[in-house]
Amino acid sequence: MLAEEVHIAIGSNIGDSLTIVSEAIEHLRSLPKTDLQRHSSLYRTEAVSDIQQDDYINAAVLLTTTLEPMDLLLELQAIEQAFYRQRDTAVKWAPRTLDLDIILFGARIIDDSHLTIPHAEMQNRLFVLQPMFEISGDLYISGLGSLKYLVENAPKMMIKQIL
Ligand code: AMP
Repeated sequence: MLAEEVHIAIGSNIGDSLTIVSEAIEHLRSLPKTDLQRHSSLYRTEAVSDIQQDDYINAAVLLTTTLEPMDLLLELQAIEQAFYRQRDTAVKWAPRTLDLDIILFGARIIDDSHLTIPHAEMQNRLFVLQPMFEISGDLYISGLGSLKYLVENAPKMMIKQIL
């Protein structure tokens, strides 16, 4: 089976988020049937939320993998669990120890009860787009346009490259 390019977005705003995001990148590096190609810098971003919460640390990773999307999602959820993510399903955009989202999976379009790919909110989230642009500046996403266009047109927010 041919390996496909997958972009993952990482976010954390509970605990030592700089360390958590760095360690999450190392976990992604050791996934089965997967090679980590590139990862972005770490960014500090303001929380998009109705409730007061700390800034996030965000990053993006480009993997190549022969895992199927659902198997990759299960691997990502296992990594999240390893960081004791606290899920608060009652609050949208609740603070979180570690969030790993599949943003793009090759050119696949998936919309089922477990996965929406491309990620449904990608075009609205500069904290996803900006780190992705750092590692895949030439990307064109069918139906959405170039990554450069998406970065330029996403709602503005505070985002600072820190590491
Ligand atoms: P969240 O709390 O935002 O991390 O949402 C987690 C849920 O989103 C999981 O149960 C997934 O099944 C679902 N989900 C849908 N699309 C995606 C995606 N592209 N990447 C990761 N999780 C996804």
